[in-house]
Amino acid sequence: MTEFESSPLGNQLADKVRRRRRLEAHTSPLPEQTRIFTVSNQKGGVGKTTSTVNLAAALSRRGARVLVIDLDPQGNASTALGVEHRPEVNSIYEVLLGESSFADTIQQATDNERLWCIPSTINLSGAEIELVSMVAREQRLKSALDEYLSEHPEAFHYVFIDCPPSLGLLTVNAFVAATEVLIPIQCEYYALEGLSQLLNNISLIERHLNPKLAVSTILLTMYDPRTNLAQEVAAEVREHFPEQTLETKIPRSVRISEAPSYGQTVLEYDPGSTGALAYQEAAAEVAARWAARVSQEEGQ
Ligand code: ATP
Ligand code: MG
Repeated sequence: MTEFESSPLGNQLADKVRRRRRLEAHTSPLPEQTRIFTVSNQKGGVGKTTSTVNLAAALSRRGARVLVIDLDPQGNASTALGVEHRPEVNSIYEVLLGESSFADTIQQATDNERLWCIPSTINLSGAEIELVSMVAREQRLKSALDEYLSEHPEAFHYVFIDCPPSLGLLTVNAFVAATEVLIPIQCEYYALEGLSQLLNNISLIERHLNPKLAVSTILLTMYDPRTNLAQEVAAEVREHFPEQTLETKIPRSVRISEAPSYGQTVLEYDPGSTGALAYQEAAAEVAARWAARVSQEEGQ
């Protein structure tokens, strides 16, 4: 071993090379039916949007066709995917109101040719109130998505719905439309606060509106291995959710937070960064865990 290889920087580089080789050595299995994830946590700023766009980009780069539905009036997922979301653009708002079809709102994302987005515009900020008086107000996203998927069953391997930081009607629509919930948890103090309320809501939805819904995936975000707190939070989450928590932890990284201001995912902005690598590893895990579950169920 050279002096460089045994230095901390040398170790880091060697570790990255090892991880990259491991990723390249395995292809990701594609699901036979569209997997529909809602990415949710009513806490703000925990990495919902960042995880949505980067996991979606990573899966599409691994061969899947992926749709991101931006269900947050802030429109951050639309920004990060480089799609048009001026108020005049057809968006998820018009879909929810029944004024526009899915087909008329889908836009190609800039990251790669297998990634699409239904944008959100500022108009969506009124939707929580407008939906209240509407027929089947909890089912509107599901109806539109199901209709599109029944006409285009091969369109997407994955759909990710990016939720706003609240448990209002928009998030309820996402829970009703999805089959899986992905909860990003920030490795910081108070990380688990509010989680039981989220889980309660999910189980209410499961009982009354969507029996197929389950929390399949928990992703630890903004992890800083130098702090004891981050390690403690990660251990506690794993203890509570051993099945759901991905092995991969997303590190706190400046490159991840810079990417959206260029209308890019971190995979496009800095493909060699540790953040891009971590999201690719998380995506590979999301695909592999599903395949393992399916083959286990088939074996039973
Ligand atoms: P909101 O609740 O407002 O929708 P959110 O849960 O979608 O927020 P993000 O917007 O993804 O959270 O992230 C919040 C902030 O943290 C953003 O500025 C984002 O760029 C930054 N961020 C997210 N993940 C990381 C990371 N791994 N490292 C550094 N910064 C990050
Ligand atoms: Mg967000």
